[in-house]
Amino acid sequence: MVSIASHCGEISPERLSTHKGTTNILSAQTQPFGLYIHTPFCLQRCHYCDFFTMPRVGERDEQFRPFLDALDSELQSQLSLFASRTLRSIFLGGGTPSLLKPSELEKIFEAIQKVFSWDDTCEVTLEVNPDTLDLDKARAFRSLGINRISMGLQALDEDALRLLGREHNIEQARYCVDVAREAGFDNINLDMIYGRPKQTLSGWERELQELLEWEPEHVSLYELILEPGTPMTRAVRKGELVLPEEETRLEMYRLARELMCEGGMQWYEVSNYAKPNRESRHNLDNWRGGEYLGVGPGAHSFGLLSPWGERRANPRNLPLYTSQPDAAPWHPREAEDVCKDALLNGLRLREGFQHKPFHETYGLTFSTQTLEKLPSLQESGYLDVEEERWVLTPRGMELLDAILVYLDPQPAD
Ligand code: SF4
Repeated sequence: MVSIASHCGEISPERLSTHKGTTNILSAQTQPFGLYIHTPFCLQRCHYCDFFTMPRVGERDEQFRPFLDALDSELQSQLSLFASRTLRSIFLGGGTPSLLKPSELEKIFEAIQKVFSWDDTCEVTLEVNPDTLDLDKARAFRSLGINRISMGLQALDEDALRLLGREHNIEQARYCVDVAREAGFDNINLDMIYGRPKQTLSGWERELQELLEWEPEHVSLYELILEPGTPMTRAVRKGELVLPEEETRLEMYRLARELMCEGGMQWYEVSNYAKPNRESRHNLDNWRGGEYLGVGPGAHSFGLLSPWGERRANPRNLPLYTSQPDAAPWHPREAEDVCKDALLNGLRLREGFQHKPFHETYGLTFSTQTLEKLPSLQESGYLDVEEERWVLTPRGMELLDAILVYLDPQPAD
């Protein structure tokens, strides 16, 4: 008699047998997966940011201790669901997790090891802000097993850094990359933002060329998004700041693609580039539909705990989270969610969306209304359909959001 422990008791074979994807759900319980840990503190709040984070205030340990205790407790609470699953990746994000002391990270890793198995092949990424790392700290992080640094560079222009509300300058960022290299990190990602107020195409070209000279293994280039309620959004709405025209932002995207590829980076996701075999394993696994557990305030999780998978979202509220770190419930996905998630994640990848594994995992296929729209996308040069693989062309990638709305992914009846 097979049963799988779940947050809502046991999932019975009867419940499983109502779906065609049963075999894959059971085998998924032994598949490796990812762990995301959210640290909700930053030195300051950047002007464009709407992540769940708060400024560092007051006595440091008093602010951090309740969070660290809650994290430990949340990890232990997942033991019954995920005991002994092998971690393929750990991503320490935030916020600014590089504000953690090495001794605090060591305790977090000890807590992880009580729940998961994890070896040297695991990708362990730490998000770093340039004003929070020195050589001693970098060496300590490396010796703890962290093997990938993801740095929030955001701009290689001092005026732009001030406009974005970043605390660091270019010299600090360069120093941060240098100490990471000296400490032995051979896998570094640099995040940049384009489409910023006052930014020009020629200025962006100069920044990208300098970025390549820094020789990162991975680069993420995101267009500035005006999130509701941020100082940046308010300034743009009031006309105090002006974004580049839409056509210029599109040219910036195309220029980035061209320069990164000329510089030896492979374009593997709508906004991400990597040297060969240096893709972000954590993100790539998630985009390919893999499971991940998110711990910490505001963290999201996805698990194949029932046939169509379940999601969980921790509260974006530190006191609420620390008072009940394991309270967030898992919610089963509906068939429509499964279809939307699959296309949203699959089409953003240059490898595209693969229909066969999707069907084998979930026992679902797309509605006639969705499938009938594919030929028009092909005729317009936005989509290639190869066997069972749907791949957006470079022109299609530029319209990813609009294409997803147009396809309106729905399951067949
Ligand atoms: S450092 Fe990152 S998470 Fe923190 S406020 Fe700035 S953008 Fe947000």
